[in-house]
Amino acid sequence: MPPLSDTNFMRRALDLAQAAADSGETPVGCVIVDPSTGAIVAEGGNRPIASHDPSAHAEITAIRAAGQALNNYRLTGLTLYVTLEPCAMCAGAISHARIGRVVWGADDPKGGGVAHGARVFEQPTCHWRPEVQGGVLAEQSADLLKAFFRARRAGGRRQAPDADRL
Ligand code: ZN
Repeated sequence: MPPLSDTNFMRRALDLAQAAADSGETPVGCVIVDPSTGAIVAEGGNRPIASHDPSAHAEITAIRAAGQALNNYRLTGLTLYVTLEPCAMCAGAISHARIGRVVWGADDPKGGGVAHGARVFEQPTCHWRPEVQGGVLAEQSADLLKAFFRARRAGGRRQAPDADRL
């Protein structure tokens, strides 16, 4: 897939991240695409606070929506775009879903589970390893997160335990 497409889909994921921030959630957005057609299968924004669900990361939200859209628990061959490096939980779900390729924006040295921390896809217990690529529109993604936490600190609100992420 040409890099231009990666950038376009990441732009859409950044819009979803901004929408998450507008509802008071940590700004992370995700788009799942069928690379054979270029069609967006599902989208998701980070919404653990609104949904009272600690697992409602953008990737999980999008993976659930994609499964419903396709009536299939496997998302084999699809590409997942997410604005922030997936955490270990999301990397596990990506592997269970058999997603073919994962593209992310900003690295997450504190909470990431692909290029940092648990490095889920590199473990011998990981039985499905997608192709991975980081750094697509990374600066825009990191800027969104930094602005969000800066504003929250200024407002004196520290509801989420990951307030110091990035
Ligand atoms: Zn996650």
